[in-house]
Amino acid sequence: MVGGGIGGLITAVALHRIGWQAIVLERATELGEIGAGMSQAPNAMRALAELGVGEQARAAGVPTYSAGNLRLPDGRYLQRARPGDPTPLLAFHRADLHRVLLEAVPAGWVRTGAEVTGIQHDAGAVTVTWSGGEVGADLLIGADGIRSTVRRLLWPDAPPPRFLGRTAWRGIADTEAGTGTGAFADADGLSGSVTMGSGGYFLIHPISRGRAYWAYVTTAEKAGVRYPKEKSEAARRLASWHEPIPALIEATPEQAVIHIDICDLDPLPTYVHGRVALLGDAAHAMSPDRGQGAGQSLEDAVVLVAALTAEPGEPAGAFTVEAALRRYDAERRPRTQATARGARADGRRTTSAASYRALVTMIRLMPAPLWRKGITADGNATWRWQPPHLPSPADRH
Ligand SMILES: Cc1cc2nc3c(=O)[nH]c(=O)nc-3n(C[C@H](O)[C@H](O)[C@H](O)COP(=O)(O)OP(=O)(O)OC[C@H]3O[C@@H](n4cnc5c(N)ncnc54)[C@H](O)[C@@H]3O)c2cc1C
Repeated sequence: MVGGGIGGLITAVALHRIGWQAIVLERATELGEIGAGMSQAPNAMRALAELGVGEQARAAGVPTYSAGNLRLPDGRYLQRARPGDPTPLLAFHRADLHRVLLEAVPAGWVRTGAEVTGIQHDAGAVTVTWSGGEVGADLLIGADGIRSTVRRLLWPDAPPPRFLGRTAWRGIADTEAGTGTGAFADADGLSGSVTMGSGGYFLIHPISRGRAYWAYVTTAEKAGVRYPKEKSEAARRLASWHEPIPALIEATPEQAVIHIDICDLDPLPTYVHGRVALLGDAAHAMSPDRGQGAGQSLEDAVVLVAALTAEPGEPAGAFTVEAALRRYDAERRPRTQATARGARADGRRTTSAASYRALVTMIRLMPAPLWRKGITADGNATWRWQPPHLPSPADRH
C-alpha cells in the first residue's frame, strides 16, 4: 500500500480482515491527519461497520445537523431541524477517525518516512522502490492522494488535478474556551448548519471535546492566492454574517486556520493496471461539496477486499489478482465518478452568485417534510449504498 491516509489505513484494515498481509508505506515521518473536520454519511458508516470498526468510529463521531439547518447570512433559517429529528450524519475531527483506523491496523504494518518513488511490475508480481529500499508484493494499492505518485508513474497520460475555481478556509474552534461558547448550538441544542451566502457557504460541524469545525467555501479566480493572516482574511469576509460565525472564527487559533484551493480529478478510464489499483483520492479526488471524498475511499476498501475474496463455488485455482482488480474497477468507477461529477456540479451551484437567488427560493419553498425525508439515512442514492457482505473472520478458519 502506498499512503497512510484514511484510504490507505482502511484498506489495510480490510486486507487484514480477509487474512492478507500488507505493508503501508507513508511518506510523512509522523502519521496523522490535518487539523480539520469532516462528516461521514450512512454509506460510509456501513462500510466501516462491515470492516469491523463501525462502533469505534461511531464513538469518535458527533451527530451533526448540517444537512437539516440551512440558514441565510442574516441568520434566518431556510430549513430547520427539529428536536427529535434523527440525523444520519456524524462529524469527526479527522485525526480522531484516522486514529480509530490506525488502532485497527496490525502492529508493524505501517512504515513512516517511506516515500515511494518507483514501481516495476510484470505478470507475476509488483516491486516498489521506496526511500528505504525495495519490496515485492502480489498487489499494490495506490492510496497516495490527489497528487498520487502511483498514478503519475503508471497513468502517465492522466491529466493533473483540476482547479475548480473555488477556495476554502477551514478551522477548528475551541468552543469551550473561546468566545463561541454558548452561541454555537442553536436554541434547540441541535448543532451543525450550513449558511448560504451569495458566492459562498459556511459549514459548521460540532466535533468531540467541545470543539467545532468550520469551513467557508467561496469562488476564486485563480489558485494559489494566499494572505499574510488567513484567519483575519476569513474574519473580514464573514464579519457581517450571523453569529456564531464571527465568534467561531475568533475562537480559532491563527495556526489552526487552513486555506486550500478546491481541485478534483477528471475521470480516469480505469483504476487498475495489472496488479496495481488506485483507491481513494488517488483514483477519484472530488470536490468536498457532498462530503463524500473519504466516504468513497471507505466504500472502495470494502469492495476491493470483497473482490479479492474468492467467490464461493469458484473453482480452486481460478482466482487471479488481476481478475479481482477488474471486478473492483467495474464496480467502483461508475459510482465514484458519478459522485465526483455531482459534487463538482453542487459546488458550482452553491457558490455561484448568478444562481443564488433561485437556489435559495427553491430551498425555502420546499415543504419541510419533503426536505427532511431527503436527509434520512436512505434519503438519497449516495447514502443508500449497501456494502458487499464479507466472510466473517471466524468463517475463514
Ligand atoms: C475542504 C475539504 C473538505 C472535505 N470534507 C469531507 C467530508 O466531510 N467527508 C468526506 O468523506 N470527505 C471529505 N473530504 C475529502 C477527504 O479529505 C479525502 O477524500 C480523503 O482525505 C482522501 O483520503 P486518501 O487516503 O485517499 O488520501 P490522503 O488523505 O491525501 O492520503 C494520502 C497519503 O499518501 C501519502 N503519500 C503521498 N505520496 C506518497 C508517496 N509517494 N509515498 C508514500 N506516501 C505517500 C500522503 O502523505 C498521505 O498521507 C474533504 C476534502 C476537502 C479538501
